[in-house]
Amino acid sequence: MKNKYDVLVIGGGPAGALAAKTAVEKGLSACIVEKRQAIGAPVRCAEGIGREALHEFIEPDSRWISAEMTGAGIVAPDGFFMRLESAYAGNKVGYILDRKFFDRELVWRAAEAGADVAVKSRASAPLMDHGVVKGAKVEYCGKVTKVSAEVVIAADGVESKFSRWCGIDTTVPVREIMSSVQYVMTDIDIDPHATIFYLGNEVAPEGYLWVFPKGERSANVGVGISGKKSGEGHRAKDYLDRFVKKTFPNGKTIEYIPGGVSVCRPLDSTVADGLMITGDAARVVDPLTGGGIYNAMYTGRLAAQVAAECISKGDTTREALMVYDKTWRASKMGKAIERNYHIKEYLISMPDEKLNAIIHSVAKLNLSEFSTLTLIKELIKVNPKLVLELGVLAASLH
Ligand SMILES: Cc1cc2nc3c(=O)[nH]c(=O)nc-3n(C[C@H](O)[C@H](O)[C@H](O)COP(=O)(O)OP(=O)(O)OC[C@H]3O[C@@H](n4cnc5c(N)ncnc54)[C@H](O)[C@@H]3O)c2cc1C
Repeated sequence: MKNKYDVLVIGGGPAGALAAKTAVEKGLSACIVEKRQAIGAPVRCAEGIGREALHEFIEPDSRWISAEMTGAGIVAPDGFFMRLESAYAGNKVGYILDRKFFDRELVWRAAEAGADVAVKSRASAPLMDHGVVKGAKVEYCGKVTKVSAEVVIAADGVESKFSRWCGIDTTVPVREIMSSVQYVMTDIDIDPHATIFYLGNEVAPEGYLWVFPKGERSANVGVGISGKKSGEGHRAKDYLDRFVKKTFPNGKTIEYIPGGVSVCRPLDSTVADGLMITGDAARVVDPLTGGGIYNAMYTGRLAAQVAAECISKGDTTREALMVYDKTWRASKMGKAIERNYHIKEYLISMPDEKLNAIIHSVAKLNLSEFSTLTLIKELIKVNPKLVLELGVLAASLH
């Protein structure tokens, strides 16, 4: 690690890897600092990603794909099972990654392209000059190094502190943090090519429970519930234990993964003078699904593209970097986040009986066009007021 880079990237997850790789491909010098001892571990993810989403960034490779999904299923609160085959399951088909190796591959590619990488190196404070971010203090084995940069890209994930230290409000309301626990289970009877989602207050209040296959007889089995629903005797782990006891009584748990996912709106601003914020740190997780791998890669790459333009013009002020913020908000990803936030807010207020009715009625449709939009149309039938809440997009569906 040197003392000066064009771009300093904080965090070696998907957002940071894509940011660093893109920066060096644009001719900049870049370094990723990662506080953990190893890239990709421990995994805190159910590892699902849509087929097209993955292909936009990288060709699948059996070294880091655990399983390929050709279908999906939803289990309603009353136990009714709706199966979606590959042709109908839209973005729910794709891959279950092995993120220990996937994240390494992304960072390896950034390094191959010319980026420096420093593990066990924690950004502990920003370097500031009259309110402008100029780099970071980086701690490695008790030694602190000042690393200056034209632009710092914060890609430090859901627990992100860096942007807060730079004066940005990153607070997530408790009710919008999904408290999650996942077991990697083996020796269980599953469909090895379908992701299954369980809904309802008994199973996962204001969230969902998932079974994402990792092979013929193993899967990521996890649950996310609203932080405000969590308490003594009804924590995410309690819900998961009850489900596992009932559904996979003979299964074995070989890994325990706690974690949090923000399902709030993105930060009001994802740029400041000399600073860009990406991925989970920017709160760009899909609020409906909790999926954030694609959004992290998308924002990481875009941030570095804009940083390169701004650095070449010698202007890294907030105004100049704002192109990044405006571009992702106007993108398909940004619009989906906004739309899915409203759907999520609506769904979590819905009693189980209504949710049952919706899933039963969606199952009766011609599912050749199943997508999030099909779901929205059904929701609007149940609650016409939703048109107003979803604004222009929902209106255009009529
Ligand atoms: C239980 C669970 C299940 C999930 N399932 C899915 C799923 O199936 N599909 C999906 O798309 N998404 C899923 N997600 C979300 C997904 O994991 C994240 O959206 C994704 O990892 C975000 O990537 P990122 O690069 O922004 O952050 P991260 O992958 O979190 O990477 C951030 C990195 O920054 C490092 N870091 C933090 N602070 C510092 C510092 N001060 N200095 C240096 N390094 C630092 C961290 O150690 C970490 O390695 C899930 C999340 C959880 C918790």
